[in-house]
Amino acid sequence: MKQSKSGVWVSWNKNISYNYKSLYSIKTEQELQEVIANTDKVRFFGAKQSSADIAAGTDTLIDITTYNKILSYDDSERTITVQSGVVLGDLLEAIESKGWCIPCLPDINTITIGGALATGTHGTSGNLLSEYMIACSLILADGSIKEVNERDKLMDAVRVSLGVLGVMSTITFKCEPIYTLHVKEGPESDKEWLPKIKERLQRHDFLRVLWLPHTDKGYVITGDKIDPDTKIKENLGPKYLKHRRKTSKILYKYTHVFPWITAIANKLLYRGFFNSRKEHKGSLYQATVTKSRGSTLELAEWTIGLDQFPIVFEELKKEINKWSNKSFIHIPMDIRFVYKDNSWLSYAYKKNIVTMGCVSRNAATADTYEAFKSIESIFLKYGGRPHWGKRFTAKDNQLTKVYEKWEAFKLLRSELDAKNKFLNPYLTELFNEIKN
Ligand SMILES: Cc1cc2nc3c(=O)[nH]c(=O)nc-3n(C[C@H](O)[C@H](O)[C@H](O)COP(=O)(O)OP(=O)(O)OC[C@H]3O[C@@H](n4cnc5c(N)ncnc54)[C@H](O)[C@@H]3O)c2cc1C
Repeated sequence: MKQSKSGVWVSWNKNISYNYKSLYSIKTEQELQEVIANTDKVRFFGAKQSSADIAAGTDTLIDITTYNKILSYDDSERTITVQSGVVLGDLLEAIESKGWCIPCLPDINTITIGGALATGTHGTSGNLLSEYMIACSLILADGSIKEVNERDKLMDAVRVSLGVLGVMSTITFKCEPIYTLHVKEGPESDKEWLPKIKERLQRHDFLRVLWLPHTDKGYVITGDKIDPDTKIKENLGPKYLKHRRKTSKILYKYTHVFPWITAIANKLLYRGFFNSRKEHKGSLYQATVTKSRGSTLELAEWTIGLDQFPIVFEELKKEINKWSNKSFIHIPMDIRFVYKDNSWLSYAYKKNIVTMGCVSRNAATADTYEAFKSIESIFLKYGGRPHWGKRFTAKDNQLTKVYEKWEAFKLLRSELDAKNKFLNPYLTELFNEIKN
């Protein structure tokens, strides 16, 4: 295995960096076991795209991205087994070529499977990605392997586990037959789209709302399963729409100095980029997942029960529209829907939820972005839960109130990793563990 001595680990958007003493790029399960067994403290990382400080911060680090083979398929069961460093885009291409799909996908394809599962990565109008995992091998703190499958109670804890119970090594996903989505997109006023959420979730196979703060508008995207041969009137809108992210970046350039510019920029972005209707078709992956991003960003995301969402939304909107509040929010706030599951640290543990993203297009000035503070305080007030891979400040004493299984998870973590091998400084504080 390749080992590099001392260097600096830097996250994708450059907001987190750490010196390390040893970095291992592993290619086999045995190498993974060996490094874990022979170190006192270790973290492991995939594409480094999390905004939360969970992937590094220990002297020894393991790069999982070189552990990225597709291992096997079972055609009759429609399952695929992969090493955890495989990139989501590669996994999806492999299963699409089989005529299969995973029916709920995040809006990014460059993340690793290990990173995605560990942080509870989700898509829209379906389950978390981790709900499609039916088995995995977990490398425990002593370097031994634990096989976990759907019949084990442990699976509900492992599915979303922040890489603190062990390192997921090989992972088996259950897939579904691929389908074609007929996607329609267009703007609607808040008065129109907000009351229609439940009805649309019943009617459509896909629903996403890109909320446009400071404009009173949302951009609604619906998708319906159709026969792939169905003819549709394709309309991809004007060609310049592809420059939306670049234009946003320019318009928001000085919003950390003069936050109010955001309100004007958003009105312009709405008129330029969210004011036309689109219609197209394709697989879920081809029709709805962003394939490339020109620049980095910083993200927060909060989740709340479906029934509570309208109240939380109205309060957030009222708050950010006050000029006394400096929370001018960049476009868009991504609103998505996740169905209930049984995973202990899932945002959707036993209830259907709505997720609401909050983006700062200036990653470097994210510390001064008031919007992250406003969204956190409003969602927490209503029992909302933060996305594990994104930016938030809540710790143990708040998380225990919003996650029913938080204490059970902590107990399990301390049993499986009694010496806190897998805790970096951020995770030590998150779980309120004593540093050792
Ligand atoms: C532009 C962008 C768009 C995004 N879109 C979405 C979205 O649509 N939906 C959504 O839910 N999230 C989304 N995210 C968040 C993203 O999915 C998570 O942050 C994800 O963890 C990133 O994967 P990664 O490979 O970069 O993991 P890293 O950031 O490298 O690692 C994340 C965590 O996973 C752990 N980990 C890595 N590999 C393993 C393993 N094999 N076993 C156990 N633990 C492991 C690491 O130790 C770390 O704690 C988005 C992020 C960005 C930057």
